[in-house]
Amino acid sequence: MSDKDTLTTGRDLLAHYEYLIEISQQLTSTLDLGELLGKITAGAEQLTDTEASSILLYDSQANALRFEVTSNLNPDQTESIVIPIEGSIAGWIFKHGEPRVIEDVTKEPSYFGQVADTVDLKTRNLLGVPMRAHDKVIGVLEALNKRHGQVFDEQDIKTLMTLASQAAIAIENARLFQQSDFIAEMVHELRTPLVALKASTSLLLRPDLPEDRREDTIMTMRGETDRLIRMTSEFLDLARLESGRTHLNVTPFDLGKLIDECVEIVEHQAADKEVSIATAEVDVEVKGDRAKVKQVILNLLTNAIKYNREQGDITIGAVVTSVNDKPYVELSVTDTGLGISVEHQKNMFQKFFRVADSEGYAHGTGLGLAIARHIIEAHGGKIWLESERNVGSTFYITLPCA
Ligand code: ADP
Repeated sequence: MSDKDTLTTGRDLLAHYEYLIEISQQLTSTLDLGELLGKITAGAEQLTDTEASSILLYDSQANALRFEVTSNLNPDQTESIVIPIEGSIAGWIFKHGEPRVIEDVTKEPSYFGQVADTVDLKTRNLLGVPMRAHDKVIGVLEALNKRHGQVFDEQDIKTLMTLASQAAIAIENARLFQQSDFIAEMVHELRTPLVALKASTSLLLRPDLPEDRREDTIMTMRGETDRLIRMTSEFLDLARLESGRTHLNVTPFDLGKLIDECVEIVEHQAADKEVSIATAEVDVEVKGDRAKVKQVILNLLTNAIKYNREQGDITIGAVVTSVNDKPYVELSVTDTGLGISVEHQKNMFQKFFRVADSEGYAHGTGLGLAIARHIIEAHGGKIWLESERNVGSTFYITLPCA
């Protein structure tokens, strides 16, 4: 190598490090996960001179990796792809916590071809490095297709490793921030019943309070304490689900039986409103966590009662369909209630979301459907709704058949 070459390489290297420092600073300045991921992939491509890059994060529920972002693909193409830990390159990197260069993916037996089969990105070669935060590997950062026919060298590995560890910490921070956001919202929600309880105790302390008002006040207090208890257990449920600490106890079970059990539980509540419940014959075994699926069905049924009109109807149906050639059951709960406008439909599964005009109908926490979505998605199923204002709503869930 001539002196001139060493000089340019030296200068390139300096620019390289300057760029790395610049990205690192950018990463610490945002807590928005989406924005962060975009910056990381852009940085990875620049630093390694590659055509594309992707971030795969570990999903503890599925014990697999999922594409969090891929620079040249839209999320629709990648969200359903689950990459196993065993038998994939990314899985190997995750498990061993070491970088890997694959010069020619077509010659690599553990190359997980599903990605290339699903999308039109043709991967020729790749460099993957572990993303380590606080001594724990949380995912894998990959740089794909080196430009200008070059090969990955030691320098690429070093810089991508540095970027990946900075990125991992930034991602962990953003996740923690999301959690603290959740705590702030939760405390805010808890204040409403607490304020009602405090006002009630003040009332009860007044010696001039008539007897009938005293009784009303005690009933209000009972209602508010019930609500607090329900809220706290729902908060815990959701926090556990969101952090991936919930373990599913999957067994095959008879869905028809479970539905009957749920209907029996809500019968009283329905009778109070003279709402009738009709169930189609359901003769299918599904595979899932029975207690958690029960929680979801009960939530859909209580909503169908709470937000129904007096003397309304509820219909429960089930059909067997197939998703990716695997049998799934599609369960539906239809009501004849107030319905949900198109504008609100997209927010239905967000935590704390409640339609303002349903307040008059029933108390709630706005957490039930967020919990339901987590549970169903952890089963590999889907949850969605169809609804028309003042006509009614149908909520659908899918679950894998046994
Ligand atoms: P909660 O019922 O405790 O408020 P959910 O998460 O179960 O919480 O529901 C969120 C919101 O969605 C409800 O507050 C209500 O506004 C609306 N909703 C849910 N189910 C129905 C339904 N079947 N018909 C009309 N609105 C509904």
